[in-house]
Amino acid sequence: MSLVTRKMAHSARGAQGLPRGVSGRDASGSVFRRSEEIGTSGYNPAVPQRIRIAGGGISGLAAAVLLARRGVSVEVYDRHRGGGGRFAGGWQVLENGSSDLDAFEELRAMGLEPEFPAIRATRALFLDGLGRTFEVGSATPYAYFVRRGGGEGSLDAWLRTLALDAGVILREGEAAPPDAEVIASGPRQADGVARELVFTSDLPDTIAVMFDPAVTPTGYAYLFCLGGHGTFGVAQVRRVNRLGGARDAAWRRFREVLGEFAVRGEREHGQFMNFCAPRHLRAADGRWYVGEAAAVQDFLFGLGNRLALRSAALAAEGIAGRWDDVAFRTGLLRPMRTTIALRFAYERMGRRAFTVFCRRASRGDFRRFLIRLQRPGAAKDALARLVMAAWRERRGCRHAPVCSWCRERES
Ligand SMILES: Cc1cc2nc3c(=O)[nH]c(=O)nc-3n(C[C@H](O)[C@H](O)[C@H](O)COP(=O)(O)OP(=O)(O)OC[C@H]3O[C@@H](n4cnc5c(N)ncnc54)[C@H](O)[C@@H]3O)c2cc1C
Repeated sequence: MSLVTRKMAHSARGAQGLPRGVSGRDASGSVFRRSEEIGTSGYNPAVPQRIRIAGGGISGLAAAVLLARRGVSVEVYDRHRGGGGRFAGGWQVLENGSSDLDAFEELRAMGLEPEFPAIRATRALFLDGLGRTFEVGSATPYAYFVRRGGGEGSLDAWLRTLALDAGVILREGEAAPPDAEVIASGPRQADGVARELVFTSDLPDTIAVMFDPAVTPTGYAYLFCLGGHGTFGVAQVRRVNRLGGARDAAWRRFREVLGEFAVRGEREHGQFMNFCAPRHLRAADGRWYVGEAAAVQDFLFGLGNRLALRSAALAAEGIAGRWDDVAFRTGLLRPMRTTIALRFAYERMGRRAFTVFCRRASRGDFRRFLIRLQRPGAAKDALARLVMAAWRERRGCRHAPVCSWCRERES
């Protein structure tokens, strides 16, 4: 299965501001002001002179860049050296199907010029549980494929360079001080788990996703091979003790459909993911939480990269005295709640329903399909409220103190 892909080289353009809210009170009761009232130059006593960030993943580094460019002295602590934290060079997507706004345009609007290698994904192959395959396609990218980990050309390496250019001090190989002002240290408890295999191969460019609830209940499996670099994975949020079996069955299925291909230099690793709905990005003690430390993640497919970067931009604005509550609610909280409603439906779908899902996705433009699916609306809001009441975790959780809702864990 060969799919057409194109490398993107993005040139610098002027940054626009993110949408900003109006004057008022934020969720924690603090006064926030219009951006114009503060301005971006000159001394502002509301902006801290020094910020220490725990975690040098994409959310911590993005927040660091944006703060350092405002003249704040920023130190980023990461217990791993060389960047890339918990990832091993595999492919991930920067999703581009949750809104009409292109992900790269959003990065530019944040002031982060997307000058990292990315592959525009406009084609994919879906496998259902009944042995069928479906080709999906879109006129504009439904996702950008990016490498994760510390290697050259990764999303992480790009942000690390931006951080160094902005004068951020990277304290790699050091645990963060317990009183760091910004927490960007990734997931804190396992609400979902994944197993990934990263390898090199002779497989032609392939983006394949399998939706079979009998193999990966509550989850899905994926195999991406682009430019000879492969990533295969399975992810689930429930029945996680079946992940090993899911891995073997999904791998067999992909090989049946795609044919034999070489697998070299493989590295396998397990991962876990957080999901909760934060009430704010700042906790009552004044510390800020970004990315997966705030459990900012889409509940449907577990795609957290774009939301992690968005949360970093919102927090950086907030730290600089420009907290935008409207942008937080409309840009982060509501889309996440919409995906809670979608996840409820997803977990009730059987094999036949996934066949219908794949067929619908393959008819028409796949990006438009994703945007329609994830567009917030009154019905999804109402369903999300019901689901949140029914699925509420009542035993307490280890998410950040900003957690306002999370789902009960599997015991
Ligand atoms: C297998 C897998 C596949 C995924 N695929 C996708 C995808 O395709 N698309 C997508 O959008 N999202 C995907 N996600 C989710 C996405 O990777 C995360 O949402 C995103 O990386 C969160 O970034 P972060 O900066 O908040 O956290 P992280 O990337 O976890 O970074 C946290 C950093 O903090 C450091 N750290 C932790 N504790 C400490 C400490 N005490 N002191 C100092 N440093 C510390 C870690 O070393 C790490 O570098 C995937 C997740 C997994 C697990």
